[in-house]
Amino acid sequence: MIFSCSILVVFSIFFSNILYRSGISKANDIIKQRNFAVNYFIDGYFSEVNNTIEILADNKDVQNLPWLDPSGRERVLNLFESFTRANRNLTYIYSGYEKKDLVINDYDPPIGFDPTSRPWYQAAMAVKPRLSTGLPYQDIKDKTWLFATSKALLSEEHGFSGVVSSDSSVQMVVDMLNQRGEVYKSSYSFVTKLDGEIILHHNGDYLQRHISEITGAPLPLEEEGGSISYRLDGREKIAYYSRSGETDWLVFTVVDKSEIITPVVSQILLCIALTGLIAVLLGLAQSALLSRRFSTPLLELREKVKSIIRGEPENDSDYSYPKNEIGIIAREVEQLAAHEFYARSRLLEEANRLLEDKNRELERLYITDWLTGLYNRHKMEADLEQELQRSARYGRVFSVVLFDIDWFKKINDTYGHPAGDTVLRELAQLLRANLRVTEIPCRWGGEEFLVLCPEIRQEEAKALGIRLCSLVENHQFAIGTRVTISVGVTEFTGTEKANELIKRVDENLYTAKHDGRNRVIAG
Ligand code: GH3
Ligand code: MG
Ligand code: MG
Repeated sequence: MIFSCSILVVFSIFFSNILYRSGISKANDIIKQRNFAVNYFIDGYFSEVNNTIEILADNKDVQNLPWLDPSGRERVLNLFESFTRANRNLTYIYSGYEKKDLVINDYDPPIGFDPTSRPWYQAAMAVKPRLSTGLPYQDIKDKTWLFATSKALLSEEHGFSGVVSSDSSVQMVVDMLNQRGEVYKSSYSFVTKLDGEIILHHNGDYLQRHISEITGAPLPLEEEGGSISYRLDGREKIAYYSRSGETDWLVFTVVDKSEIITPVVSQILLCIALTGLIAVLLGLAQSALLSRRFSTPLLELREKVKSIIRGEPENDSDYSYPKNEIGIIAREVEQLAAHEFYARSRLLEEANRLLEDKNRELERLYITDWLTGLYNRHKMEADLEQELQRSARYGRVFSVVLFDIDWFKKINDTYGHPAGDTVLRELAQLLRANLRVTEIPCRWGGEEFLVLCPEIRQEEAKALGIRLCSLVENHQFAIGTRVTISVGVTEFTGTEKANELIKRVDENLYTAKHDGRNRVIAG
């Protein structure tokens, strides 16, 4: 997105610049063309008037009129009339002479009228032998603006004899100046003399005022033309001006700057909007491509690695990585993670197995007598309690057989303590070999053993005690001696507690000892 925005900014600045420059230069060209068109029109218009005056100024009759007879005057008046008819822009044609004579159709000058004092006369004399053009004045009758074009008459015989002049209506020119351009509706033209005096303007208020009054600054007027900008009625104006060949006037063509700038700015905005749209589309396409090629495979990899870590290495996603660098790396990382997962799983399984073994071993050691391998007293007390609960609840019976080796101290004394241990181990072995699965033996204390007999009544337990007595008595121990045991037997009363049961069986054992040993006492 940042990339797209940068492109947008760079392109916008670049194109805006180009568009602005080309827009302004195009606008200048259009104004220039308009200006030239107006200029050509004015030239065309006045060349006709100028030609007429030139032709009349060359006419001998016109030059020498004061010295002609009345028919000569008639000829001149006819000539003036025919030219006036030929060009409908020519309102009047007349000539005035040094001899205070005025020749004009349909007008009687007042008595004492002196043409040489008139501006048109003096203007022509001032520039003789050239034409004097563009002398504006208002028609006495209808107040329309007229232009006098005049030329001094040079007679071969009499020298400068007078001035021939024409008044032409400039309404057509003014209409042309006020014609709005096709491109710029705010454009119009006006005409000044070389000194800046406004002589043609559609707004009569400006006539005969100096152009600097409008532009607010003295003009750097170039001979051949140029452009100026100024403010009028709160609007920025741009004007191009050129010099008219026929009249020596300056033709200005003006346009509101805003009318030039507005389309250029909208074009720039459109360009920026289009560039922006393209940049956004490119950005979206790029991000979609990046997502497909880079983001998606990486996110997929993350999910797969997560499920591997969770212990679900088999992912049922049918996504396949793209065949680019990211795809290759993602595949390898996934394989590595899976490999690592299996390796760790194996290690963990192994550790768990070891731990379970150790736990089992610990559990076994916890309930086993270290010397004989039989259950220890702690385990037997728990079993006894359990059996007691079970029998009490279900009304079952069980018995216990408690026996103690007779005169065991002597064995130790005679054969040594280790030999005593051997005897204890061998006796345990004897028990294991001769008891039923349901009869559970344990080492109760030093050389005391207790057998728990579930579902066995006292009588049967007593028989077991007798059997054990004879078994031990008849067994030749490895150390080369025989021993006997004294046995106490009792049956669970159904209501008593474990210590009461133990106390009773212990008393029976004591009685067996007291009664001479190697016997069974039940009760
Ligand atoms: P009686 O029971 O017949 O009255 O005589 P006794 O000699 O067996 O009596 P007493 O209870 O005084 O002696 C028991 C002896 O058992 C004492 C002790 O040294 C021995 N003893 C106890 N535990 C062990 C053992 O784990 N190993 C060996 N070697 N001797 C043990
Ligand atoms: Mg003993
Ligand atoms: Mg003892």
